[in-house]
Amino acid sequence: MACTPDSFRALTCTCRACSPHMYGDPAIDPHHVNPNNPRTHFRTRRKLERSQFQRCEPLALAHAASASFERDVSNFSARQKAALEKLNNMPPLLNPITRPVAAEIIKHFNEIFFLGAIRNLKFKLQPDLARKSSAVGYAHFPRRDASRIMYPELVFDPDTRASPDNDITATILHECVHVFLSQFSCDTSDGFYIWYKAPQDFQLPNCGSSECPILVADNSGLTGHGRAFASLATAIERSARRVLGRPIDLCAWMGAEDEILMDAWRPSPCDLNNFFPSRAELLNDLMTSTLSARAIVSAFADLLAPPATSESEPIPALTTVMAP
Ligand SMILES: [Zn+2]
Ligand SMILES: [Zn+2]
Ligand SMILES: [Zn+2]
Repeated sequence: MACTPDSFRALTCTCRACSPHMYGDPAIDPHHVNPNNPRTHFRTRRKLERSQFQRCEPLALAHAASASFERDVSNFSARQKAALEKLNNMPPLLNPITRPVAAEIIKHFNEIFFLGAIRNLKFKLQPDLARKSSAVGYAHFPRRDASRIMYPELVFDPDTRASPDNDITATILHECVHVFLSQFSCDTSDGFYIWYKAPQDFQLPNCGSSECPILVADNSGLTGHGRAFASLATAIERSARRVLGRPIDLCAWMGAEDEILMDAWRPSPCDLNNFFPSRAELLNDLMTSTLSARAIVSAFADLLAPPATSESEPIPALTTVMAP
């Protein structure tokens, strides 16, 4: 981890509540597009220009998406309601999942959870992915040189049993959170720069804000699982039963662990309280320990086991996951 940019690691909590001076008011922030504005460009159905991507502050973006589904389903937009109805009317998932079925699920999730904003998303089914790697899916941006973030690709294993403790819709949702944040937040690193870039190649957020470069390791994270990811992914997890009729695990905490191990985003008391209340035991150690992040995580391996509540609520069998 020699290239960890320590200078970007927050020493105090950089959430909006604790460090409001680091954030503009989304409504008047001159550096960012306001994602709460329903006429904001990315909410239109028109084709977007390159210059219209990556223009929102990451946390404001995550909050705008969360607010759209953290309300009673009866107050959903017409597009959200239509997508939810179509999703509920899909036949049970068969194994392996086919391209048309995957395309339909992604389309509906985009409307329900991501403001219908995700653009130009291609996806690929890779039947041997789970067998050849530890991942059941990943998002990447193959056309990053010419047009960078505009052409994300989601790759996942079509075997709905590829991950015994997860389901394929959770994988799709997890990767869609990455794609949404990467396409529209001002961080241009795609959340993955540390894995293949040297520190000198680190790209500044393109908003021109003097605070975003300081916030990027916390809010975007070095693996793409920083505070903005945690905020949106845990909002989906909290809403899943109410909206989709069943619990769904986007592995938001596993992402946070990656961040802690990278010595990047270290969740603050507010973050644990807001996103991971069952991990509150870690609070003092994360905030005050002089141990390395890796030592903290391994010392608390027991606490990092899945919370008991999710074990007592079995996830429905895969063949029934799309049932209303
Ligand atoms: Zn805070
Ligand atoms: Zn910014
Ligand atoms: Zn991820």
